[in-house]
Amino acid sequence: MAPIPPLRIDVLTLFPEMFQGVLGSSILKRAAEPITYPGKQANPDNSGDISGDHSGDISGGGGVRPPIVSYHITNIRDYADNKHQKVDQPSFGGGPGMVIQCQPIWDSVQAVQAMDDRPTTRILLTPQGVPLTQPLVEELANLPRLLMIAGHYEGIDERVIEKLAPIREISVGDYVLSGGELPAMTLIDAIVRLLPGALGHQDSAHHDSFSPGTKRLLDHPHYTRPRTWEGMDAPAVLLSGNHAKIEAWREAEALKRTQQRRPDLIDKTPPPA
Ligand code: SAM
Repeated sequence: MAPIPPLRIDVLTLFPEMFQGVLGSSILKRAAEPITYPGKQANPDNSGDISGDHSGDISGGGGVRPPIVSYHITNIRDYADNKHQKVDQPSFGGGPGMVIQCQPIWDSVQAVQAMDDRPTTRILLTPQGVPLTQPLVEELANLPRLLMIAGHYEGIDERVIEKLAPIREISVGDYVLSGGELPAMTLIDAIVRLLPGALGHQDSAHHDSFSPGTKRLLDHPHYTRPRTWEGMDAPAVLLSGNHAKIEAWREAEALKRTQQRRPDLIDKTPPPA
């Protein structure tokens, strides 16, 4: 089977330097690198580890896990058509704040999109978009290529947003940030940790809050060593070795905590088939 290229993520931003620390650390960094696991002989063409939907299995054996994502951060200012690289102007109609102009956004999208011929899903980070949820993250994690646009100042001239249709407008919550950079990084992190091979355990993301393994409820509480801390014992059932009982306890705790903290999630849970 031919090797599947890593998910390509482009970001258009006026502040590329903001991405270095986040994309260059921890899980997001490792996901963009090949990882060699001891055990089996390394697979020279990297084929077989990643299938069409980015699924793959690196558990229980060695080999090479090829990069599962590639990041490409582009400065919108590089596409300004003036010698001062100015990309913003005051808002028509008056009022405070600057608006990013159509031309640099349009030209940078065209140029970046032409760098790879896989179908591209364009995404605008905006507080006016659809709220980001785990099912939406799961959907985006199965696409071959994402191009994210981070706004700044008062936002982007509406005409270029219209002309970039189809474009997914996504919000990270009902509050306003200074720019789309942190929302883009939030979205990237949420997506990349779902790509098989990104986390140490293939399964762990599946059992997080809002995910299919928790029936989209909240996760149960977690405990670790020591068994007693500051006079507080970890629940005895978790140390019983009885897997059926542990599972039942975890399910009950997850439900209890969801009822207490997020009853709205229970209303949304589909009834059993
Ligand atoms: N005037 C805009 C409004 O009220 O809808 C807010 C502009 S905000 C100060 C500047 C940029 O930050 C936006 O263009 C967007 O890219 C980003 N941004 C701010 N809050 C966001 C959120 N909750 N979700 C996604 N992007 C956000």
